[in-house]
Amino acid sequence: MLCRPALLKLLALLVCATFAHGSLAQVAEPKKRPNIIFIFTDDHATQAISAYGGTIMQTPNIDRLATEGAIFLNSFCGNSICGPSRATVLTGLHSHANGFTRNGDRFDPDQQTFPKLLQTAGYTTAMVGKWHLKSDPQGFDHYAVMPGQAYYNSNFIMPDGEDKRIEGYCTDIITDLALDWLKDGRDKDRPFLLMCHHNAPHRTWMPGPQELGLFRDKDIPEPDTLFDDYEGRGPAAAQQAMEIDRHLYFAYDLYCPIDKDERLYGAYERNIGRLTPEQRAEWDRYFEPENEAFRKKLAAGDMSPEDIVRWKYQRYIKNYLRCIAGVDRNVGRLLKYLDDNPEIKNNTIVVYSSDQGFYLGEHGWYDKRWMYEESLAMPLLARWPGVIEPGTRIEELVQNIDYAPTFADIAGVEPAAPMHGRSLLDLLRPDAEPWRDAVYYRYFETNTEHRVAAHYGVRTDRFSLMHFHELGYWELYDLNKDPQQLKSVYDDPAYAQTVTRLKRRLGSLREQYQDNK
Ligand code: CA
Repeated sequence: MLCRPALLKLLALLVCATFAHGSLAQVAEPKKRPNIIFIFTDDHATQAISAYGGTIMQTPNIDRLATEGAIFLNSFCGNSICGPSRATVLTGLHSHANGFTRNGDRFDPDQQTFPKLLQTAGYTTAMVGKWHLKSDPQGFDHYAVMPGQAYYNSNFIMPDGEDKRIEGYCTDIITDLALDWLKDGRDKDRPFLLMCHHNAPHRTWMPGPQELGLFRDKDIPEPDTLFDDYEGRGPAAAQQAMEIDRHLYFAYDLYCPIDKDERLYGAYERNIGRLTPEQRAEWDRYFEPENEAFRKKLAAGDMSPEDIVRWKYQRYIKNYLRCIAGVDRNVGRLLKYLDDNPEIKNNTIVVYSSDQGFYLGEHGWYDKRWMYEESLAMPLLARWPGVIEPGTRIEELVQNIDYAPTFADIAGVEPAAPMHGRSLLDLLRPDAEPWRDAVYYRYFETNTEHRVAAHYGVRTDRFSLMHFHELGYWELYDLNKDPQQLKSVYDDPAYAQTVTRLKRRLGSLREQYQDNK
């Protein structure tokens, strides 16, 4: 449970310092309100963060936020897909209520968002990096957002509409833009909100020049379920199209072109074609010897189908982890800036999160979308000097609907329209109502990329109940006994009462959030 006593003492100080007098008093004394740096990445699984116990790589800079602040151990999304999670983070509302239910939708920018609330309350605000919501950002004094997903020599749309190509590697460039604004761009008389949102480690995983040499000398351990047979679950798990074996492409995903007729070969050529001749030479120096060795073995018939899956897994996971190593190094650059400017550091909350989890070979998969644990989980770490006790581990069930109310609360702003989420500062308040006992989930896309069937459900501290409503069946997992979720116990008579209780809870959540369609 929450490490409460020390936190409560600190919270009392916080309440006296910043909240007791309400928002009017804070406008009169704007410098006392805390700054916020919100670092957000795309598809970063908790399995690839050492602070979460991940063993396949070390993330020393992200881990600093846990050792110097708090790590949320049960942090979830409400809809495991990029655009919808971002819309929920901005609005504090589940997908059905903010109108952005699936990738490809257009975010309605006129609705209430936390950057707009903070800007109206006197914060100076900036957003750099991946936006992904189609409509132009609102609520920012400054922004530079990527119109696409390019890792190298990315374009950025500026507030005046200029589409600017910046040479270099995206994670480095986004951090450069963030640091430029911190140093010279912002109004230093006001508290700030800086959103530093990375494209990495989204598909198609292209490591930066500084990380190309990582993980060359030994293989990454395979997950237990790399060769999952999907027995023990309903038909959805077997029907998807997100397997490393069948749906990860040699050219587009793995940068090992073999056959020009392969699906997405043209997209591969466009991606690799963005590199300058110098970048391309460095890229080929690392990958071509491995590619050539693989092609030879393949042509000689020396590889079994399992050998090929194992090779694909290694290429995929190593490039994914290399992208994260680039993120971690750049988190370190932002933290170093704060270390060098303690007067800012001491009044700045730094948050790290990602829009949803990801499969790193579990169940034979890459990608996300499912209510199963790996994609439901969102990393969430926060450092707030003098407020959050270093080394705090929070086990309560938190969700991306909580981000907007939390940021508003930190700034001392009262949202005008209700939000579904709740301020995480309530976890620190001795007189707060009890925290939630269950989170609601709903994934809307069906028959789109990766063919994951639509479903919705409820997750408690022990159980996960899912309704694949279009396919007409349910799954239930007892996470204490089956953390890998390999056998649904929905039809097990021993769980009949649990099913009844959870269905009732799911119904009450759908009613609470008014999701009845
Ligand atoms: Ca994502």
